[in-house]
Amino acid sequence: MSIPFRDIEKKLVHSGEHPVEGAVCLPVFQSVTFASRPEEDYHDVRYIRLNNTPNHHLLHEKLAAIEGGDVALVAASGMAAISTSLLTFLQAGDHLLVQDCLYGGTHGFVTHELPALGIAYDFIDGGNPDSWERLLRPTTRAIYVETMTNPLLDVADLPAVVRFARAHHLLSLIDNTFATPVNFRPLEMGFDLSLHSGTKYLNGHDDITAGCVIGRREQVERIRHRLNHLGGSLDPHACFLLNRGLLTLALRVRQQNSTALRLARFLAGHPAVERVIYPGLETHPHYVRAKELFQGYGGVLGFEVRGAEGETGAVLGRFKIAVVAPSLGGVHTLVMRPARVSHAGLTPEERARLGISDRLIRVSVGIESADDICADFERALAGL
Ligand code: PLP
Repeated sequence: MSIPFRDIEKKLVHSGEHPVEGAVCLPVFQSVTFASRPEEDYHDVRYIRLNNTPNHHLLHEKLAAIEGGDVALVAASGMAAISTSLLTFLQAGDHLLVQDCLYGGTHGFVTHELPALGIAYDFIDGGNPDSWERLLRPTTRAIYVETMTNPLLDVADLPAVVRFARAHHLLSLIDNTFATPVNFRPLEMGFDLSLHSGTKYLNGHDDITAGCVIGRREQVERIRHRLNHLGGSLDPHACFLLNRGLLTLALRVRQQNSTALRLARFLAGHPAVERVIYPGLETHPHYVRAKELFQGYGGVLGFEVRGAEGETGAVLGRFKIAVVAPSLGGVHTLVMRPARVSHAGLTPEERARLGISDRLIRVSVGIESADDICADFERALAGL
């Protein structure tokens, strides 16, 4: 049973924590199997792939508590959580509505793996609810969006997604990785399932891959059953690290919110910068919606430098603190070019249609001081 704490900080530290031998931190139960009593059967088996060791139980309770769900399930990666959830509720002949600018891995899964299984999809413009109905089919089962899209940080009309799903009896799924439960809790708005790449903010230390899905018991149980078959379970040591990361989630995310806003304003005022993309800036097309829905705008932003494409590479080569690497949401400031990395799987035409230029640099701010981070960007931009 989860402890009824009001504040997310307390839930992050205490929910799901049941001391063993008085230990303040749950040790790693690095045992693939556990002794059972003679009267027990398969349903009582405790085995790592069945996601039911003490380290899994702790995380399931904590994640459900912080995101406001009944139950949660961890998986070996964000993609394991996303793919298993979609495969649980879609089968051959079904149809999915999915937001048109998704994380590249999810985009690849939807556009390549689902059709191979006989599952159809249509992209929706998340900001234009009036255009969704004409894409509905009798076989449409679910609608899938991201809280903030990667890398353009678009914010769909999320309340409209919930209303649309309810009106048409669709399952609503949202990837809440970019916001984290510190900035937004989709289940409170009425989404059925909230998904995360725990590799990012939830763990926050750039040292494991993990994923999770949070929602109502009946639906998460179905996903658990499928995950047990597909085998994408999280190892207990990674569970331990994910829990350790969660302890500081609120501290990290609030600092990253504030540093990202400061960096976005700094870049917006810099003469070498042509465009800054951050939902906390009034110039972002979804600023008003983001302000209404979220408690913070997150730690990811994008920018384009003026000049030829070569200038972008030169800027990347001058960072001393920011590391040029994919991924996001950790303690290290990371920079990368979506067109070359996360969205390299899209055709140039698809990227152009979405507005992902070859000059776009995505930044995930870490927990270095805002002064140090801004100075690093000032140095990298000097001379342009
Ligand atoms: N969702 C989002 C928004 C992501 O950015 C990513 C990875 O970058 C994923 C899901 C996939 O997560 P993982 O790498 O843990 O499988």
